Amino acid sequence: MKIQKVIPSGYCKGVVNAINIAKKTRKEYPEEPVYILGMLVHNSHVSKELENEGIITLYDEHKSKEELLDDIDEGVIIFTAHGISDAIKEKVTAKGLRYVDATCVDVLKTQNLIKERLDDGYEVIYFGKKGHPEAEAVLSISDRIHLISCKEDIDALDILNHKLFFTNQTTMSYLELSDIIAYLQEKYPSIFIQPEVCNATSSRQKAIYELKDCDLLYVVGDLRSNNTNMLKEIGLKHGIKKVLLIQTYEDIDKSDLQDVENIYVTAGASTPPELIRQVIDHLSTEAGQ
Ligand code: SF4
Repeated sequence: MKIQKVIPSGYCKGVVNAINIAKKTRKEYPEEPVYILGMLVHNSHVSKELENEGIITLYDEHKSKEELLDDIDEGVIIFTAHGISDAIKEKVTAKGLRYVDATCVDVLKTQNLIKERLDDGYEVIYFGKKGHPEAEAVLSISDRIHLISCKEDIDALDILNHKLFFTNQTTMSYLELSDIIAYLQEKYPSIFIQPEVCNATSSRQKAIYELKDCDLLYVVGDLRSNNTNMLKEIGLKHGIKKVLLIQTYEDIDKSDLQDVENIYVTAGASTPPELIRQVIDHLSTEAGQ
């Protein structure tokens, strides 16, 4: 049994930057409570590590970010790598709280692009995941932005404006994106297209698509992480027989290793390096290496 790590995989620059910003904020405001509004990145191990340093994650899947803020009356609020709406920034300021914005530069780039096109009179079709914080932040910009997550959503569109612009959430699958664009162009042939999958996401996805002899691919990451789920999807589309999403080495089932020769391990952009290392170490032990 041969175990190899897919390169690149794991932390991206946006995640590293967001974690550094959170830790720096903790040091800068030693006397005040420091909160992250939502999960800084979609990985509960990262949230736990930050909590150990006294940085509290405000997260409740049944509450909106506005509602989460209702209970906070003092301290510093950190906005996550996925971006934030102006309305929430205003609410934080109105409550007399300070904020630090850890939005990834690639997310900001897409948001600015959308704002420019809206200013030019375009209507925007945005390919993203319903309920994902990055998509939510984008949708808050204007009601002239239409979220699509699948081809059926394109069928349901009824836009009269002939100035149409298309872009996407930064962590979508580049393969699915090509399909969506082709389908969209059949309905709106003159649509102005600007794909925005970030480099970190596309390079991790392409590395999987280039694997030639993979019998089993482990994708390490949190189930809520979009880019992690996309890695699994790419592996399956590439025809890898077994693609398993695991959160830690403890999720490895020995029976999956039977009759398997080449195992590869990849990880989402929000997966801590220790978790990837533990998976590789565990598999190496199983393989007697
Ligand atoms: S996955 Fe891309 S957009 Fe998201 S934080 Fe990382 S670099 Fe930024």
